[in-house]
Parts: sequence; structure tokens; C-alpha cells
Amino acid sequence: MSRNLPDYSRDGAHYLAFLAELAQWPTWRESKFQVLQKKFLKADGRVMSKTEIFAALKNFSADLKFTSTQLTRLSQWLQMKPSRTISGVAPVTVLTKPFPCPGKCIFCPSDVRMPKSYLSNEPGAQRAEKNYFDPYLQTYSRLQAFKDMGHSTDKIELIILGGTWSFYPEAYQRWFIYECFRALNEFDISDNRVRRRQDYETILAKLKEKSFLALSDDPIQNAENFDSKKITAADISYNQIISELYVAPEKKLGLDVWQTASWDEIKLIQQKNELAKSRCVGLVIETRPDYISEAEVLKIRRLGGTKTQIGVQSLQDMVLEKNHRGHDVAATRRAFKLLRQAGFKIHAHWMPNLYGSSVTADIQDYQKLFADPDFKPDELKIYPCSLLESAELMQFYQAGLWRPYSEIELLEVLSECFKLTPPFCRLTRVIRDIPSPDIVAGNKKTNFRQIVQDQLTIDQFQVQDIRAREIRGAHYDSETVKLSVVTYDTSVSQEQFLQITALVTEAAVRGTKPLTKPTPPKLLAFLRLSLPKNPSFVPELADAAIIREIHVYGQVSPLGERTAWKAQHGGFGTQLIAEAKRRASEASFKKLAVISAVGTREYYRSRGFSDGELYQHLNLE
Ligand code: SF4
Repeated sequence: MSRNLPDYSRDGAHYLAFLAELAQWPTWRESKFQVLQKKFLKADGRVMSKTEIFAALKNFSADLKFTSTQLTRLSQWLQMKPSRTISGVAPVTVLTKPFPCPGKCIFCPSDVRMPKSYLSNEPGAQRAEKNYFDPYLQTYSRLQAFKDMGHSTDKIELIILGGTWSFYPEAYQRWFIYECFRALNEFDISDNRVRRRQDYETILAKLKEKSFLALSDDPIQNAENFDSKKITAADISYNQIISELYVAPEKKLGLDVWQTASWDEIKLIQQKNELAKSRCVGLVIETRPDYISEAEVLKIRRLGGTKTQIGVQSLQDMVLEKNHRGHDVAATRRAFKLLRQAGFKIHAHWMPNLYGSSVTADIQDYQKLFADPDFKPDELKIYPCSLLESAELMQFYQAGLWRPYSEIELLEVLSECFKLTPPFCRLTRVIRDIPSPDIVAGNKKTNFRQIVQDQLTIDQFQVQDIRAREIRGAHYDSETVKLSVVTYDTSVSQEQFLQITALVTEAAVRGTKPLTKPTPPKLLAFLRLSLPKNPSFVPELADAAIIREIHVYGQVSPLGERTAWKAQHGGFGTQLIAEAKRRASEASFKKLAVISAVGTREYYRSRGFSDGELYQHLNLE
């Protein structure tokens, strides 16, 4: 049995009671479902996850009074919401281990069980802790969870989060990436997880022998350990605690020798992934702007990176300084330029309501994010500043120097943000999903995005961002499919956002109401083409236009499988590449390069691209 599945010999009756109550509902709604989840808490006080409920549904289907139609619809509903794989790729998020961070940002929480800025109550963080922050175990168990939920695990976006990636030792970075790829390659064909977990048992036993406080895979036990030692960030800094508790013991035990991989090993494991069943079609690294240099960009690329999540937070130097951010706006400008010149997708984090800012200043700041040619991110997470107990901001709050925005103020800022977001940018998140007990003051509504969207509907404003226009699971009218382009200038390039859109004919999920009024065209696929204005610092990209991203939507479907409505294999990718090629030639570029992920190299080879050192290329001459 998968470790993600419940122990029915112990909790079976509890799951059955939950499902029996669910069986009485005529339709399923998320809000009502969440109430039921809270009513049926597990023995450890946590809610049953949808993975567990879906697994229990499969296990107990014979005992339940569901009709076969009900069973199918409930299975679909459990898999479709939240729509983890609806944009075509299964996202696997893994966290690096707790480690010192060069930042001293006053809004950043210090949870000593976590890498800086993460909270042990967050679902992704809990998964990481249960897996000792081990990259192999985290990747493998996440793939297993997707499989248990009935999702395909063919195409994976690896999202590596936690503190400042570029501050971790390079040996650890190489090992982390190597182990993620090893898990992708071995998923479903071996069970090295067992041996890996045993390694950790041995390490923990050794740590305990030497009286080091050690992390186990039991979050409750860990919480007790830390509490009993009365460790709080107020006594000593996060970095000091982490160095004492993790970094020093690990060094003494020689873990830093174990946690390494050579560049040759990385190359080999990545080559294996090119043909693996679970292929890495995107690799995301999270870091700080001031740690981005030419060398760092090339290193991230060598590790297989295709996108960076980068903390912008504010475009006001005064605000950055007041929040002890440790870098200025000039550093963010430099980072954006270097990443764009190397063809990376840029996923920015931006924070309204920081100490020193205001509603008006935040709206102006957001305007600048898209008006200033140095910025213009491809994706964006908007994280309004929340007050967390372990953050230094508490002192500013208690001294009356800072307060969270009221709901009306927050609504005003976020509504303006939606209005100002251009069609080439994806608003991935507009509120960080912090568990409400951790928020001391401020917004606790995790559905604030919906509140903003409702307001915009009242204002009759049509949101343009990518997420609002994604086709998701809807049917489209093939007669209305259209290719168009959104062109915009940055300080280092002209960017062309090639998009394929169509009109939607039916609602996404069977069982929901049919469409009663026409909706604006939905996005079926897009390609980001970059036409550099000057030679890049990457020698391989000389005279090259760059494909920075191709995304074809549709629920993840196994490679080769075709259904009526799924957009993934409809030839849109090929059509977009042909258009990019035509446009790059027209602009007199000699080559078309692509920042391909390891698992997409075969795709590009089959379309005439040849392998370079870090990119793949198509000759245009
Ligand atoms: S750089 Fe990021 S992780 Fe480090 S203190 Fe600042 S916000 Fe937190």
C-alpha cells in the first residue's frame, strides 16, 4: 500500500462515515465540502486530504450507496478540484532543508523547523517535513499522490522552493537536483524510497546518540522537541538556531559529504530523464535578485532550470530599506535583465502593504511593474503582507508603526492589480495560503481572489491575465481557433506573446450548468518569443531569437492519448513553433534557440532542433 493512503484497519469506519454523508448530497460544493472535512478530523487533528478521500472512495466503493453515475461524478469532482493538473502539467513542489538565509526581511517568518519564510503548518511544508526534506522522498511521494488521485504523472514541473536557493552550498544544490531527477526516473519502477527512509533512520539514531536535536518525519514530535527546548526566534536569530541545530550536526556527521553529486552525474541522470516515464518539462528555482549574476544564471541553467521565482517585493528603495530587504531596486533590474537575456521565464513575487508603503503607493508600484521596460514579469504571485508571530514586523505593529490593510483597502489594491495585469502575465496567486491561526492580524480569507473577481464582475471588468483566460477542461469551437500576437518591449528585447485562442462551447465539468451566455475567447496555447536587442552574455545565444516558453493547455493526458476536447496534442505546439520561426527569420535572426527542459529535449529534436551546450537550436539560414 502507498504511504499516502490511509490505514483502513484503524480508520476505516471514520472514512466510511465521511463518505456516507457525502453520498447524501445531490451535488458537491467546495465550501460545503470543507465544512465536512473539519467535522471529520483525523486522529492527529488534521483534515483528510482529497487524495485520502479519493483513495477511500475507491477502497469502499462496494460498501457505499452510490449509483455508478454518482461514483463517476464524485471521482471526477475530487480530482478536478483543486485543479492541480488542469493547466496541462503536474506540479511537484519540493522544499530545500532549513538553512541560513542572507536576508533579514522584517515580514519574513522564522519557523525553525522550516527553510526561511515557510511555516510548518503549510501543506507543502508538512509534506517536506514528513520526508525529512529529502528531495528523492519528496518527489517520489508527490508523484505517488498524483497517481493515487488518478492523475497522469507523465509531465512534471519541478518547483524547488525554500529560503534563498543561491545561498545553499553548490554541492547541496547539485545533490538536490540529482535526487529529484533520480526519483522521476525511478518512479513506478523501483522502490528505493524504502532504502532511503532507512538511511534517515540511521542518521537520526546517530544524531540522537550525540544529543543533537534531530528532525524526524513526525511533525507533532518535532513540534514538541522544539517547544521543549524553548527555542524562539526572539532569543537568537533564525540563522544562529539553524546553524546550531542543522548545519553543525550535519557537518559533524559528514552529511555534507554524502549530500553531493558531480556535474557529470547530473548530466547522466538528466539524459536518462529525456526518455523516462515521468519527464521534467519545467524546473523552477526560487532566489533573491541580488544573488543573480551571470555565473549564477548559467549555473541554474546547467542544473536544468527554465524558470526562476524571484522576490521583487517592492519597487520603492525606501520600502525595501525600511523592511531590511538587503538589496535595492537596481539589483532587481539587473536580475530581470540577466534572466531575460538567458531566456528564463520570470516569476516574480510582489508584496503590497509592506511597512512604509500605502494603498496609493502600492497601486503606483504595480503600475511600474508593467510600465517600466526593466520588469514586465511573465508570472506573478501577489502576497499582501501578513502579520506572523515570529516575524520582526510584530514589533512595528505593537509600536503602532504598521497595520494591515482593511478588507476595503486590500480589495482596492488587488482590484487595481487585476486591472493593470497585461494578457502576457499569469497571476498565479493573489494571496499566500497561510493557515489562519498563524496570522496575528490582517486578512485571513484565503478565497480573497474570488472576492476580487466578484467585485470586478460587478464593475463589468474583463480580466486579461493568462489564468483568467485558460481553457482548462472546457470544450471549444474549432471554427473559432485563432492565432494572434501581443507584442511588448523590454529594455533588452522585444517580446512576442503568440497565443492561440478559441470560443468556448460547453462548461468544463460534466454535471455543471451549460453556458447560457457567450464568454470571451479562451487560451488554448501560447509561446513566448524573445527577440534580443543586444548580444547576450551567453555565447551560445549569439544571433539567436529565443523561445522562452511553450504552453499547450488541457488536463494532463498520457502521452499519445487523444480525446475530443483535450488541447495538449492538437498540433498547437508545432503551429506556434512554425510561427516563431517565421517571425525570427523576418527579424533577421540566424538561429532560433529554446530554453528547453530536460524532459522536452526529445520533443524539440523531433521538430528539427539540435542540442547545444545549454540550449537547443534551429538554424534559420
Ligand atoms: S530573502 Fe526571502 S527567505 Fe530570506 S529573509 Fe527575506 S523573505 Fe525571508
